[in-house]
Amino acid sequence: MTSDDFSSARLSPRLDLKPSASATVSAGPGPGPTPGDLLRRLRARGAGDPVTHVERVPARAGEPAPWPPWAPTELRAAFARRGVVAPWRHQAEAANLAYDGGHVVVATGTASGKSMAYQLPALATLLADPRATVLYLAPTKALAADQLRAVAALELEGVRPACYDGDTPRAEREWIRRHSRFVLTNPDMLHHGILPGHAQWSGFLRRLAYVVIDECHTYRGVFGSHVAHVLRRLRRQCARFGATPVFVLASATSGDPATAAGRLTGLPVTAVTEDASPRGGVTFALWEPPLLPPDSTAASAVPPQAAGDHDAMTDLVQVRRSALRETADLLADTVAEGVRTLAFVRSRKGAEVVAASARRALDDAVPGLGDRVAAYRGGYLREERRELERALLHGDLLGLASTNALELGVDLIGLDAVLICGYPGTRASLWQQAGRAGRSGQEALAVLVARDDPLDTYLVHHPEAIFGAPVEATVLDPANPYVLAPQLACAAVEAPLTPADLALFGDGAKEAIDELVAAGALRQRPTGWYWRHRERPEVDLRGEGGAPVCVVESATGRLLGTVDGGSSHFLLHSGAVYLHQGVSYVVDELDLADGCALVHVEEPDWSTHARDVTDLSVVSVRSYVDAGPVGMFLGEVDVTSQVVSYQRRRIATGEVIDTRPLDLPTRELRTVAVWFTLSPQSLAAAGVQPADVPGALHAAEHAAIGLLPLMATCDRWDIGGLSTAVHPDTEAPTVFVYDGHPGGAGFAERAYGTASAWLRATRDAIAECGCETGCPSCVQSPKCGNGNNPLSKPDAIRVLDVVLANLPA
Ligand SMILES: [Zn+2]
Ligand SMILES: [Zn+2]
Repeated sequence: MTSDDFSSARLSPRLDLKPSASATVSAGPGPGPTPGDLLRRLRARGAGDPVTHVERVPARAGEPAPWPPWAPTELRAAFARRGVVAPWRHQAEAANLAYDGGHVVVATGTASGKSMAYQLPALATLLADPRATVLYLAPTKALAADQLRAVAALELEGVRPACYDGDTPRAEREWIRRHSRFVLTNPDMLHHGILPGHAQWSGFLRRLAYVVIDECHTYRGVFGSHVAHVLRRLRRQCARFGATPVFVLASATSGDPATAAGRLTGLPVTAVTEDASPRGGVTFALWEPPLLPPDSTAASAVPPQAAGDHDAMTDLVQVRRSALRETADLLADTVAEGVRTLAFVRSRKGAEVVAASARRALDDAVPGLGDRVAAYRGGYLREERRELERALLHGDLLGLASTNALELGVDLIGLDAVLICGYPGTRASLWQQAGRAGRSGQEALAVLVARDDPLDTYLVHHPEAIFGAPVEATVLDPANPYVLAPQLACAAVEAPLTPADLALFGDGAKEAIDELVAAGALRQRPTGWYWRHRERPEVDLRGEGGAPVCVVESATGRLLGTVDGGSSHFLLHSGAVYLHQGVSYVVDELDLADGCALVHVEEPDWSTHARDVTDLSVVSVRSYVDAGPVGMFLGEVDVTSQVVSYQRRRIATGEVIDTRPLDLPTRELRTVAVWFTLSPQSLAAAGVQPADVPGALHAAEHAAIGLLPLMATCDRWDIGGLSTAVHPDTEAPTVFVYDGHPGGAGFAERAYGTASAWLRATRDAIAECGCETGCPSCVQSPKCGNGNNPLSKPDAIRVLDVVLANLPA
């Protein structure tokens, strides 16, 4: 979060609005400027040209196909009423495969009409067989609610679609179980509610014809591995009732979707990947915020003694204008032009800050104009989210700053401009976010604003890594023992495990069962393995994050929203400044036992930044490469971390006011790491002085973490690192990079598999950075627990040169 925050005070008023401009704006979204004109105006506003590359993504004509012969007239008529005269070719192709009983994944771009690919076969079957049922799974409640609206709008007799999730009133649940034939839910509800209650669902499961898995690319890493087993548990229950449903999956564009969908479901899946929907052209600009004049940086503005804390000297030196500030300005500028704009911001806090800042800039120019901009993120209550979507669709709002594409309704497409604040981690999500831009037949603008970090900086200067590379494959690992064992325990509660189940749960299932038996959780009997306890095992699909923490206003008891458990120590510690819809709150108390944080309204002139400390020990080595003075390893490690303090920083200057201790429990993590060691002699021979070794390794570690997302479907917040001149377990200078999830998520493994390409890109990113002593674009890290101290940029290049010279390509 450190590099993310900025102040309105430092936001130079860039808007140059004449009063007459407000008249055009209040008229709502009209024809507006062309993307080319808009981009020209945006890039001409500051000194120097922030655009490093412009890519024209051409418009594409749609390719319609005839209705499948099996699609009943009633269904065709229902689609026709919604304005659909014929399916596109990819929709018909996927629908035909599914109707013939094949498992299919349709992996095409945003707004390519993936939903029709499953609606056609599923609804045709429901109409033909009055007993058949369909189960639809979305990763978020918001998406399921959107799909419910879409299916309900078709007004088909006897389908009775209904959402069944945590928001469903108890009174309605039984009716849904008995009467709905198209149930929309999410994997969490399937895991916590439907599968444990399978007896009540037996009628529904017995008749289950289709399972639809929407946005299936989101099931990656540990979460994806959990969902893979929830689906196996679903298949097991269906089989007990004699049902073998067809799986239809929808994915964003991704590498090798058939394999990923196959791992997710455990079934052979055919992929349909050729998008035949029409698309408006997009002008895609890569944008690097300008360098700040040297005297405006935070560190030089603060005499070290003023802070009373050594961190002030080594604190992040803001070299470039932050991506948040730049995005807020661009959002204000596009809104002022009357352009409907969606800005994607990675952090929740960031989205709030971008919206608040754009609002202020617009109000400064034309009072009242700021009301046309709002923030949007998952923690908001459902009603707030729906209202914001509606307002943007209808043009009451012109600008929305949002955390990620998934939280948004599927209808929210066809925007005139999309701003992407920081690379979203994968090319797949980049295209998904950019895909929100462009109404058919109309050109749109997409802008990727680079954050001040190694990966973003590398990408805006290597456009071929964005536009010339295939999208990543979705990585998940159902064999992760930290996922498999608890999932088998859940399965055993639902029905005793039998030897026949071993093949269903795949590699490692027998070992995991043996361990559960040894731990006393399962009892082996002649008829199978039985769960021994009264209570069900507590298993959270979304990893170690734990239950979300509720944010409650002390004075009124009003629930403001939620924050996921994993972030709560960082965002909601006592004293933290927490933003909600642009309103600033200060946390009175974080009650971990009750899962809530009590806050009060207060707008201090400082921001807060949590710090943590980390310790790591090697548990075992899975694989290694012995390359002379260099060793490269993959193995299990134990990581202990604790949020120990937070800094308060003056918003206007970034000045560190003080550092305050926190008393939060440590969190422990057994995970997978990749690490490399170098001999002290090889470092000395490369010219790294012994005193500079810690700074060299630390700098290399930061940059390596920053560049790993280029190789694996993770982002830098999914991984952690640690470097040391002598580690007790390796007895050598060592750099560790580990998965931030129990049991690992496949990221470190991928880093190990692509080590030389990964470290080559890391070395180039550092060497190509124009700064002198290191900056957030190369070796500084926004999440460093040591305040980015020590760091040695030139020595980091030497370290990586030694590794690359010895490591086999
Ligand atoms: Zn740099
Ligand atoms: Zn660090």
